[in-house]
Amino acid sequence: MELWIQPCRPCAELYGQPATQAPHEDLALDGAGANAEATRRYTCRRCNAVFARLQAGTPDRQRWMLLNAGQH
Ligand SMILES: [Zn+2]
Repeated sequence: MELWIQPCRPCAELYGQPATQAPHEDLALDGAGANAEATRRYTCRRCNAVFARLQAGTPDRQRWMLLNAGQH
């Protein structure tokens, strides 16, 4: 199983954006969990990237984080 994915272009552009930015059209919201209000997780249907949309903490921490992308 490939754990490290190459993000598609919309995912690469969303990475690091403020959490107020809307998810792109291929991102599907994962099932609601216990902490769904603070951190929502999304999976990309195009490239299987998994994002955490941080909505807690100071404003500079409230960003889209890419959880499973390679660095190259
Ligand atoms: Zn993607």
